[in-house]
Amino acid sequence: MKGFSDHFNKAPVQLAPAKTAVIVVDLVNDFMKEGGSMVLGGGMAVVPPILKIVDAVKKKGGTVVYIKDNHRPDKTDAEFLIREPHCIDGSWGAELIDELSPDASDYILKKRRFSSFFQTDLDMILRENGVETIIVVGVVTNICVRSTVHDGFFNGYRCIVPQECVMATGDREQESTLWDIDTHFGYVMKTDEVLKIIG
Ligand code: ZN
Repeated sequence: MKGFSDHFNKAPVQLAPAKTAVIVVDLVNDFMKEGGSMVLGGGMAVVPPILKIVDAVKKKGGTVVYIKDNHRPDKTDAEFLIREPHCIDGSWGAELIDELSPDASDYILKKRRFSSFFQTDLDMILRENGVETIIVVGVVTNICVRSTVHDGFFNGYRCIVPQECVMATGDREQESTLWDIDTHFGYVMKTDEVLKIIG
């Protein structure tokens, strides 16, 4: 008998680069840089492959959206019932890392929840740009990347996750989350394969 997750109905992914957006999730100092309030060990390894994906999509006329986790300075945010305060609005920790270089054609959005879609302008921006496919990259795989992929899928977007461009809180979480995404929510692919289909 087939296992529940083995009931695939997936065609090989194709995408129209101009109708594609890269969603760069939470590459902010608090999560990425020494001195940050909640650093993901080794997280900077995702940056070089992410820059390749961003560059490729921009060259082909696609959309780039940088998402910044960003919480209220009064620390009333519901997330802080569970997590220590981080990414406080206006602080160094809430800023994008220096390795990124957004230009005037890119979007920068703040979010207050794990999902980049939850009560942000993201869905409206994607629709205004005719986006059909989102490539979700950044940190961390099993929290904000995953929540963003879930909502992206629920909103009708084809979701691609290049595996070297995301990092989880541990190996078990990376494996489990990417398995769930690849079997139910989208496509997990090697970064080189994604670059190939961007063209
Ligand atoms: Zn947060």
